Amino acid sequence: MIAVKTEEEQEKMRAAGKIVGETLREIEKFIKPGISTMELNSIIESCIRDRGAIPSFKNYHGFPAAACISIDEVVVHGIPSLRVLKEGEIVSVDVGALIDGFHGDAARTFPVGKVSEQKLKLIEVTRECFFKGIERVKEGARLGDVSSAIQKHAESHGYGVVREMVGHGIGRKLHEPPDVPNYGVEGSGPVLKAGNCLAIEPMINMGTPRVSIDPNDGWTCRTRDLMPSAHYENTVIVGADGAEILTL
Ligand code: MG
Repeated sequence: MIAVKTEEEQEKMRAAGKIVGETLREIEKFIKPGISTMELNSIIESCIRDRGAIPSFKNYHGFPAAACISIDEVVVHGIPSLRVLKEGEIVSVDVGALIDGFHGDAARTFPVGKVSEQKLKLIEVTRECFFKGIERVKEGARLGDVSSAIQKHAESHGYGVVREMVGHGIGRKLHEPPDVPNYGVEGSGPVLKAGNCLAIEPMINMGTPRVSIDPNDGWTCRTRDLMPSAHYENTVIVGADGAEILTL
């Protein structure tokens, strides 16, 4: 069963989502060669706390930072460190905020300085994948409609759709049922209802869809072929006629 949020709960989801959206817009200004991912993480944590919220990811199953910051071949769950951004890289920033009992969750991938056409296209197509998925979100749709729209768009560009990591329901918990895969079959899966809250998050690889988790830290998820990967995520509420995006 996918939780249906009451109007009052949806208001709280909007408040959490707004903080996440503002934080991502704020951090974009700092994405430059020479800044470390640890510095970015501190700015993110301040943005979230200044707005009265708590970073959802900090200590989540032991994650050591407020944000996941993932460079190039790192798909998701990059741990902030002294590593500095370099010209030509792409970096995904994934942020969660908890306020008044509810979570918001979103991610963007940014270019660092001047990057190749191929990387820019990967970022853009990954973003488009989200919007292809969102076009299918409304009461009565099946989750597989959303998943398959995302998969088709990514694969039409020859990209790999990550299987091991998926989107999720969201609310009082950061991760709630259902899983929201970025691949699937039209007409399959649970039926969406107005008031369902989902984090839809295409993770799209330039090459192979296969990924591996760094055995040293247990978090960092990389493409197996070490080609770049991009990530784009928003928290949304399912409505009668479409989706409301909370984290733009
Ligand atoms: Mg998420």
